Amino acid sequence: MAKTIYFIGNWKMNGNYDSIKEIETVNNFLKKKSISKLKKIIFCPPSNLLMSFSKKINTKLLDYGAQDISKINLNNGPYTGQLSAKMIKESGANYVIVGHSEKRLLDEDCKTIKKKISIAIENKLKVIFCIGENLFQKKKNLSFKILKKQILNSIDKKINFDNLIIAYEPIWSIGTGIVPSNNYLDQIYTKLKKFLREKYKVNSPILIYGGSVTPDNVVTLGENSLISGFLIGGASLKSKSFIEIIKNYFR
Ligand code: PEP
Repeated sequence: MAKTIYFIGNWKMNGNYDSIKEIETVNNFLKKKSISKLKKIIFCPPSNLLMSFSKKINTKLLDYGAQDISKINLNNGPYTGQLSAKMIKESGANYVIVGHSEKRLLDEDCKTIKKKISIAIENKLKVIFCIGENLFQKKKNLSFKILKKQILNSIDKKINFDNLIIAYEPIWSIGTGIVPSNNYLDQIYTKLKKFLREKYKVNSPILIYGGSVTPDNVVTLGENSLISGFLIGGASLKSKSFIEIIKNYFR
């Protein structure tokens, strides 16, 4: 059966109210009937823009996600600076990114990630769960060991995988312009699939790739049938490159 391909834009700490024009352009592009229906487009702008964006452009063609939620499992309370999962959901998000390497560097350990995943799902947010090794670990041939550890320490055995997208994002690829070879990716995704089947009894987990995806390299990346889409940073900020990525994937 043909599968849905995810194109998820992670805007990080970028964009302002005017940036809605980029989403508007993507929305207009998506209206064209000629593009495959088997795609899911999700924008993850900074949380201060979520509500206004999702109110202004509210179509079936695209969806929204947040880049974080609070690890405090309460809807409201005396927690300065925190945004609860409920608040994020009410802002129009249906997804949330958890475990991104840039967040791991700041303040997210596996215990926090596990908590956030459970809180997100309780609040009907699907989770874009990021995993990835750094260059040192890759050079030591520890990549898969690291990924396995990140999954085991963050994903509950009883999780419903319908609520989870696993984004493999090698840290050495994020924002560097360096993309792993298809051979390397094939090995990683094959091992990931086998591990998830054996450990979590899931046959078709949603596995996507993130790290320096561009309109050019998406063609080669798209040859890997184990990859169900992309988490896109820099190239998602401008509608032109984001649209080119979608177009080139399906061409
Ligand atoms: C990311 O940070 O999730 C990412 C994939 O970034 P970039 O595409 O800019 O490498």
